[in-house]
Amino acid sequence: MQGDFDAVWTGGHLATMADESGYGVIENGAVAVKNGLIAWVGRAADMPGRAAGTHDLRGRWLTPGLIDCHTHLVYAGSRVREFEMRLEGATYEEIARAGGGILSTMRATREATEDELLDLAHARAEKLIAGGVTTVEIKSGYGLDLDSELKMLRVARTLGEERGIEVVTTFLGAHAVPPEHKDDRDAYVRLIIDQMLPAVAAEGLADAVDAFCESIAFTPAETRRIFKAATKLGLRVKLHADQLGDLGGGALAAELGALSADHLEHASEESVAAMGRAGVTAVLLPGAFYFLRETVAPPIALMRKHGVRMALATDCNAGTSPITSMPLILNMACTLFRMTPAEALAGVTRHGAAALGLLDTHGTLEVGKVADFAIWEVESPAEIAYAPGDNRCLATIKGGQPL
Ligand SMILES: [Zn+2]
Repeated sequence: MQGDFDAVWTGGHLATMADESGYGVIENGAVAVKNGLIAWVGRAADMPGRAAGTHDLRGRWLTPGLIDCHTHLVYAGSRVREFEMRLEGATYEEIARAGGGILSTMRATREATEDELLDLAHARAEKLIAGGVTTVEIKSGYGLDLDSELKMLRVARTLGEERGIEVVTTFLGAHAVPPEHKDDRDAYVRLIIDQMLPAVAAEGLADAVDAFCESIAFTPAETRRIFKAATKLGLRVKLHADQLGDLGGGALAAELGALSADHLEHASEESVAAMGRAGVTAVLLPGAFYFLRETVAPPIALMRKHGVRMALATDCNAGTSPITSMPLILNMACTLFRMTPAEALAGVTRHGAAALGLLDTHGTLEVGKVADFAIWEVESPAEIAYAPGDNRCLATIKGGQPL
């Protein structure tokens, strides 16, 4: 007889997300935890052994802890004045002259101390946790000089240690060309390759490297150079791709063995097919699509056709997606992108894990994986995505411990 679990959650229903499609439902299920890992999962009536502690779900639903696989959670400064100015009819030029845009976030982030950034990030993380999140990816990219980029990544790591959530860090030096290099962008690309990447790798501060590959940011050729250097240092890559136009970013991600290509509103079928063949996860960001009032949705039907995994994330950032609610993102994915609620939930669990290279250990309720759960006051898993602005998450569990 097995048994001897540290804790068991029982008396409710499980959406294991363990199958390729659907919720992997186990009604009247139980999940048992030992040493922070899932030790048993199945029908409660079949559970062997005993547990030191029993948690009664009272008929509620338990899912894997949600994974927010694309955020810019660490930043200072607000862009609310810019939001207001735009709605009052200001032009892009006027906003730029008033000091708005990504460079305003850069200035505020450079000026902020590590403690100030950490406090701001804690407040945002708390909202994510309240919506079921147990793992969050955080990018740098508002420092745009060596010290400020390292500062952002250290803050992200410290946040994870202090709050007990899992933080995955990504170096995004190639987010924008900072003003001091605006007349010599190649010097900035060389700075990234020759100084920033080696320093980030030496300090172990980043789990992956990202680039903003768009007509207003970095070219595919620059992205390729940066990613080749990252790969040489043993770092995985991922890409902001095809958000504003089709630069073949999805295909580039496939060519370079990226973990994910993110945004993808304008991705061509050629790119989507290449991603399918290479196993690159698509990370879709309906919050930015909504906030920017975009009109071209990502090619969901092509992604289904070519077997591309679709992850979803908040893209939490001051300028284009000031959103800290994963349930809201699920609703937006359904209403704006016409994804099914089951696809949406997979997007923030098993496919979110795949986007971070963590599917072997995270993202589903399966024996041996981390005991990261979210518990929901819903009648069915689809209800998590149903009501915009409604958060039905009752509790978030990380490694078998309530967060
Ligand atoms: Zn982003």
